[in-house]
Amino acid sequence: MSGPEPFARVALIGLGLINSSLARVLRQKTPATEIVGCARSQATLDTSASLGFVDRVTLDAAEAVAGCDLVVLGSPVGTFAGLAAQIGPHLAPGAILTDVGSVKGAVFRALAPHVPAGVHLIPGHPVAGTEHSGPEAGFAEMFEGRWCILTPPQDADPEAVERIAALWRMAGMTVELMDAEHHDAVLAITSHLPHLIAYNIVGTVTDLEEETRQEVFKYAAAGFRDFTRIAASDPVMWRDIFLNNRGAVLEMLGRFTEDLTALQRAIRRGDGAYLEALFTRTRAIRRGVIDARQA
Ligand code: NAP
Repeated sequence: MSGPEPFARVALIGLGLINSSLARVLRQKTPATEIVGCARSQATLDTSASLGFVDRVTLDAAEAVAGCDLVVLGSPVGTFAGLAAQIGPHLAPGAILTDVGSVKGAVFRALAPHVPAGVHLIPGHPVAGTEHSGPEAGFAEMFEGRWCILTPPQDADPEAVERIAALWRMAGMTVELMDAEHHDAVLAITSHLPHLIAYNIVGTVTDLEEETRQEVFKYAAAGFRDFTRIAASDPVMWRDIFLNNRGAVLEMLGRFTEDLTALQRAIRRGDGAYLEALFTRTRAIRRGVIDARQA
């Protein structure tokens, strides 16, 4: 195989959608890699073992990372600081610690103080997923054709960065390096705000009177359906994303609210030209997404 050496022993902390998909990729592409799985519940460990994408499982994160040359944090980002404090003293010299969290600035601040000298911290975010959770939801093809953003600190070891980049390229992703704060601003508008809007609109429906609510389900295919898919995403994961990307999300939400108010005024005033001009511009954005093969 060309490129960097495959990892010999990998600890996956959290065995949900993302890490279980990564485990399946490792199984296929580097079958000699030993995979140690760690989760919060015995049920998840049992399911993962029976699905066959881990070699060993443990509820103890410190035990999981011992002797590993790669550790991947794949639990909700709010758990990272506690996990890092637990595993920090047990990370092997020369090991790489990475993560798949959807927020990068807060994650770096949570992890960095616990990483001993000689261990490489290379945070990452594979921008791929579904609204499903847990070890059964994962599949190896999930990352194909998607972007993975790495946010290494400025003094990161280039060889360690390249090994993580190679890992995600092996999964079929295109890798881009970015500053953590820039990542958080970009994801606030492309991912976090759309989820917030979906959670809000579906929440509004739950407040409607019973009769109207039934009709919402009946005619959901008219548009509401797509919001319900997004709003079915994992509640704990998304709670942690909003709490940990507060600044960027509030900034984008401020802009969004101003634009929504402008739309409200256009409708009230019967300003069809305003509406049509906006809807024409937004249609072009859709074409751009399709052209970028991210539809
Ligand atoms: P998930 O399917 O909900 O799974 C989360 C996993 O974390 C479970 O195995 C859970 O164990 C484990 N866990 C929770 N608390 C833990 C703790 N204290 N110690 C050890 N394990 C713990 O999650 P996911 O969708 O894969 O998301 C994981 C991470 O990827 C998140 O940080 C998220 O921001 C990021 N991400 C998600 C997506 C997406 O679309 N879903 C995309 C990109 C990045 P139990 O099952 O035992 O509770």
